[in-house]
Amino acid sequence: MAASIATVRTVKELRAEVAKWRKAGETVALVPTMGALHAGHLSLIGIAKNHATRIVASIFVNPAQFGPKEDFKRYPRDEAGDLAKLAQAGVDLVYIPHTAEMYPRGFATKVTLPSLTEDLCGAARPNHFEGVATVVTKLLLQCAPDVAVFGEKDYQQLLVIKQVVHDLNIPVQIVPGSIVREEDGLALSSRNGYLSAAERKTAPILHQVLSEAAAALANGEGCDAVTSAGRFKLEGKGFRVDYVAVRDPETLAPLFGPIKGPARVMGAAYLGTTRLIDNVPTAPKNR
Ligand code: AMP
Repeated sequence: MAASIATVRTVKELRAEVAKWRKAGETVALVPTMGALHAGHLSLIGIAKNHATRIVASIFVNPAQFGPKEDFKRYPRDEAGDLAKLAQAGVDLVYIPHTAEMYPRGFATKVTLPSLTEDLCGAARPNHFEGVATVVTKLLLQCAPDVAVFGEKDYQQLLVIKQVVHDLNIPVQIVPGSIVREEDGLALSSRNGYLSAAERKTAPILHQVLSEAAAALANGEGCDAVTSAGRFKLEGKGFRVDYVAVRDPETLAPLFGPIKGPARVMGAAYLGTTRLIDNVPTAPKNR
């Protein structure tokens, strides 16, 4: 029989459970997700366990972070499957709020960070990061964990969340998790299920191209040359490229010429209607 797992759907219930743990001197980690869980999400649970004695996972498909023409309605949902995976992974509590719990009638507050969110994914997805920043702020205030774990898969999102936590003095440590990939290099994503069989075969090329760009940068090639070459290769394989960019890994500031320190090579591209994102770290080789 599948292991059962405690679930709560309201802020009040969530806080009551966390308060019991606090009273017993336990520490709490939160892993926010939109469900349709895969091994990437579960790796974050593993990291969370190294940082706290109690683990809360949240599942909330946040309407505020989807654009009007995006995939909110068809986003994969599998609550029963997710709960079985979270039970197996040893999560203590799953928080699954209803939309009305997160955004009751009259809800009016937005968390915005224009400087970090106007380009890269923010350029193609206006208001996306405002939706992310707002919902993550709420989740952190609702659960009040010691630690929250976010994947580097969504690298810009990770930096947005770190900035919000810093700016708003939210007392939580943000811990990053590295990207979990398929054997062929494709970063796991709940959206990979949208890909046709032919698109799925092409999809790992995004990671290949970013990795090649990272290697070229490490060897002293300039940012403009590698991003142009990367874009060209992707377009040649049938991707519609949104961006290929080399950025400062702490600030996301654009970098130019040969890199002098650590950098992040970031890319976003469409295969058919599916938008894929990925990123890889790089640094100059000691020569
Ligand atoms: P999502 O359910 O897409 O909102 O993702 C929930 C969390 O899982 C976010 O912190 C993501 O960055 C992280 N995540 C998604 N895919 C991966 C992956 N392939 N490897 C590691 N973390 C991931």
